[in-house]
Amino acid sequence: MVAKVKMLIDGQFIESSGETVTVVQNPATSEILAHTPQCTNAELLKAVQSAKEAFKSWREVPTPERARMFLKYQDLVKKNQDELAKLVSQENGKIFSDAQGDVWRGIEVIEHACNIPSLMMGETVENVARNIDTMSLVQPLGVCAGITPFNFPAMIPLWMFPLAIACGNTFVLKPSEQDPLTALRLGELFVEAGFPKGVLNIVHGAKPTVDFLLTNPDIKAISFVGSAPVAQYIYKTAAENKKRVQALAGAKNHMIVMPDASKNNVISALTGASCGAAGQRCMAISVAIFVGESKNWISDIQESMKQIQLGAWNDSSAMVGPVISEKAKLRINDLIATGQKEGAKLLVDGRNPSVPSCPKGHFVGPTLFTDVKPEMKIYQEEIFGPVLLTMTADTLEQAIEIINNNPFGNGTSIFTASGAAARKFTHSIDVGQVGVNIPIPVPLPFFSFTGWKNSFYGDLHAYGKEAIKFYTQTKTITSRWFDVVNSQTNGPNMTIRLG
Ligand code: NAD
Repeated sequence: MVAKVKMLIDGQFIESSGETVTVVQNPATSEILAHTPQCTNAELLKAVQSAKEAFKSWREVPTPERARMFLKYQDLVKKNQDELAKLVSQENGKIFSDAQGDVWRGIEVIEHACNIPSLMMGETVENVARNIDTMSLVQPLGVCAGITPFNFPAMIPLWMFPLAIACGNTFVLKPSEQDPLTALRLGELFVEAGFPKGVLNIVHGAKPTVDFLLTNPDIKAISFVGSAPVAQYIYKTAAENKKRVQALAGAKNHMIVMPDASKNNVISALTGASCGAAGQRCMAISVAIFVGESKNWISDIQESMKQIQLGAWNDSSAMVGPVISEKAKLRINDLIATGQKEGAKLLVDGRNPSVPSCPKGHFVGPTLFTDVKPEMKIYQEEIFGPVLLTMTADTLEQAIEIINNNPFGNGTSIFTASGAAARKFTHSIDVGQVGVNIPIPVPLPFFSFTGWKNSFYGDLHAYGKEAIKFYTQTKTITSRWFDVVNSQTNGPNMTIRLG
């Protein structure tokens, strides 16, 4: 019998009594790994109540002590990083080195959370009026919730709960129902690190679980990462229910290739950025705009794509794994057919590739289109597969205009040897994450990560440096200290004890 993925509620790993399930499969083999339950409303309520109760005491834990607990958690996740990466590979399909990167990027966020005392410092101005000082305190919100996508089963949950919890909040996490096993293992390590019960709860399910979290009055803030239509729904519904919301959404990331760029770097960067992780990265490059004579390199990209070996995570020759599910594969294949019908030229067709070692895997091979026009569906929609669209432009200005007219704005990059071209591009491009001679410019957590336009909705303090502002609120206190009985006001840098 296939086991149901457990929930983490009030410090206990328990099985849901929900009867509807989503099948979790190894996408390379179709082996059934587990069943994700649709948790019942009573179970969801218990998780939120546990988080609400835990908040009362967790917010009182001194900030440096919270940081110390995250040091322990970081150590545990680091010690278990390869085991976690294996789990990521098995349930998500990405090759092992990609999965290791997924876990490592999450560890970096935990390390950022370990700096919480300095990240939560408020501000003070002495003598805003005669004998009156003003200070701001940075305080947690209460119960926060996170809803995560399938494509980074370790990193994206770790974008959310460590920072929220380090700030003094408690958390309810709903991982993707397609690959929730990594999140559960992260929860086991969290409990092992000694965090009190109820500080982190993990619940499961699809839309009904999300709707419960979006409407429950005890949840103060919602962090979401996923596709654009769902992000818009989350943004609207969470706001209607008077919650803070940050919704990181889909993408269509462009790379501009200037004729003065290093050809070899362009070919390897573009092949990797469009096909790596089977194109299932929100920062994958899915459109390349060749300026001027650089269009002659398209045939080299075509050759480079043909060299990519497909296979399962534990096949050491595999460079790219399967896509997440049969449904995702069929959707990508349909979009490739649509592109052909719309008049784009299919130079490399990745549909139904032969992968003899994985006959039941959900594989789509590298796919390359030329002659793509902005009005085509393959250009308008995020394909989220290893499909690269190419366009041409006569000038850098034209290429920038194409990108700025695209409704998404998650990531972009330029390959050039010209400082002037790079400066013009970085200054005028309407996109949140920008690379120069770097194909996937994902910043580390001590910088901000926010897409622009349709790649982001809600509060602009998303993952990274600014996330602390999302998970906290500022209390501003203006005081005339000499009227406070027993206060000690003798000198700068003092710790004032009023109790
Ligand atoms: P998805 O939107 O299908 O699912 C994301 C989450 O929303 C899951 O937990 C899912 O259970 C839930 N969900 C799905 N449909 C829902 C609905 N109708 N109502 C309420 N909740 C629903 O996304 P996905 O396919 O899991 O992930 C891929 C998408 O995520 C891509 O669009 C990718 O670009 C995006 N993504 C964005 C970023 C970013 O930083 N901007 C990062 C990673 C992934």
